[in-house]
Amino acid sequence: MALRTFTHVTCPRGHQGSIVESTYHDSRSHWYLATLRGLLHNGRYDGLDVLFSETTPSCPACGRSLGPEHMTGHEHRTLNAVAVV
Ligand SMILES: [Zn+2]
Repeated sequence: MALRTFTHVTCPRGHQGSIVESTYHDSRSHWYLATLRGLLHNGRYDGLDVLFSETTPSCPACGRSLGPEHMTGHEHRTLNAVAVV
């Protein structure tokens, strides 16, 4: 089953982007990929949150480094259903 998790972030100046995690697994394979949507990879986060330390998101509009404190929402999507947590 394929699952997408969107972690929405908003920088201190109000610009918005998302970290998109894709996971897929069936009986034969399993993979995971984290990509950025509307964000750049050149942030400076170096804390305990693995998602942010691996993707080091930054705001392309104002250049600020973004961390877990800038998270504004979470969304999980499978192929047939949408659930907002
Ligand atoms: Zn910004």
